[in-house]
Amino acid sequence: MEFLPFTRPTIDEATIQGVVDVLRSGWITSGPRVKQFEAELSAYCGGRPVRVLSSATAGMEIALQLLDIGPGDEVITTPLSWVATGNVILHVGATPVFVDVDPITRNIDLDAVEAAITPRTKAIMPVDLAGLPVDRDRLYDIAERHTLRVIEDAAQSMGANWQGKPIGSFGDLISISFHANKNLTTSEGGCLVLNDESQVALFEKLRLQGVVRFADGGMDVDVAGGKANLTDIAARIGLGQLPYLQAFTDKRRELARHYFSHIDPALGLELPVADFEHSNWHMFQPLLPLQRLKISRGEFIEQMKQRQIGIGVHYPAMHLFTLYRKLGWKQGDFPHAERIGQRTVTLPLFPGMSLADVERVCESLSAVLRPALIG
Ligand SMILES: *Cc1c(COP(=O)(O)O)cnc(C)c1O
Repeated sequence: MEFLPFTRPTIDEATIQGVVDVLRSGWITSGPRVKQFEAELSAYCGGRPVRVLSSATAGMEIALQLLDIGPGDEVITTPLSWVATGNVILHVGATPVFVDVDPITRNIDLDAVEAAITPRTKAIMPVDLAGLPVDRDRLYDIAERHTLRVIEDAAQSMGANWQGKPIGSFGDLISISFHANKNLTTSEGGCLVLNDESQVALFEKLRLQGVVRFADGGMDVDVAGGKANLTDIAARIGLGQLPYLQAFTDKRRELARHYFSHIDPALGLELPVADFEHSNWHMFQPLLPLQRLKISRGEFIEQMKQRQIGIGVHYPAMHLFTLYRKLGWKQGDFPHAERIGQRTVTLPLFPGMSLADVERVCESLSAVLRPALIG
C-alpha cells in the first residue's frame, strides 16, 4: 500500500510548464510574475493592496515594523500556533503576551484577550488554527474599543471566510502563508494585505534592503530593510494555484465531512469544530484520549506509519519551548493550549486525496486505537 502523507501539494502540469517557462525566460527572481501574482491576490482581497514575500514570517515581522511596534510594546497572541507567531514579536524587540485558547475552537480566547490588555498593548495577533477563523466581529469590536491594531496571522487561512467575506478581504493587516503545506502554495512564500496604498512604499523598502530606485538609475536607502522578496519562479506556482483555490477548499470540506461520518465515536477522539461554512479545513486534527490509552502519542504515530499513514503534530504549546520558558512561562500557564498541544494529531487531508483514503485512515485509527483503549 502506498504511503499517505498528512499533506501533499497539488500542482498541475500547466503550472510545472509555467515554471519551466520562467526558468527559460532569463528572469528568475522578482519580476513580472510577482507583479501579476500581487495583482491577482489583490483582486481576491477585494482590491486591497497586497504584496508578496519569501515567507509569511517575514510578512508578520514587516507588519510589526509598519505599525512601529518594538521595545516596550505588548502584542497579545496565542501559544497554540507555529512558533513563528511568537518569534516575530521577539524579533522586533516587543513583548509577546500569550493568553489561553478556547478549548472548543482551539483559537485565542477573546475574553482572555480583553482581560490581558494593558496601557502597553499595541496589537492583537490572532491565528486561525487549522483554517477555522477567529470570530472577526468580536475581534475587531475589541480592537476598536481599545484602539488596538490587529495583525492577523492568517498563515493557514487562504480560502477561509468570515460570514461570506474571504479572509484577507477585510480587517487590519493580514499575513497569509504560501508554504508548501498550506492550502495555496508557492513552495515557500507569503503575502501581506496592507491597509492602503500609503503603506506600500515603506513595505517595499522593508522587503528589500530599504532600496528606493530613481528613474535616472540612481538609488537611495533610508531604512535598514531586510531581504524578503519572492522569486518569479515561486510566484508562477502561486498563479497556477489561485484558479483552483475554491475547488481545493470544497474538496477539503468534503474530505473533512467524510472523516466526521467515518471516525468511530467509540474511539473517544475529540473532534474539531464541524464548521463547513467558514473553515478552509487546512488540517483535520482530533485530540487523542490519552488518559484512556495504553499508548503514547509517539507510539500512535509510529503504528500509523507502519500502516503507511503519515500523522503530523501542529502544534505543541509554544510557551513551553526552552526559549519561552527562559523568558518566564511555565507548565500550567495555559491549560487548554497545553492539553491540546499534548494530544493533537494531524490526519491526512489534502485535495489530492480520495474519500477511500479517508476511509483507510479511519480503519487504521480503529485498528490502532481499539486495542489500546483501557477498559
Ligand atoms: C505556516 C505558518 C506560519 C509561517 O509561515 P511561513 O510562510 O512558513 O513563514 C506562521 N503562522 C502559522 C500559524 C503558520 O501555520
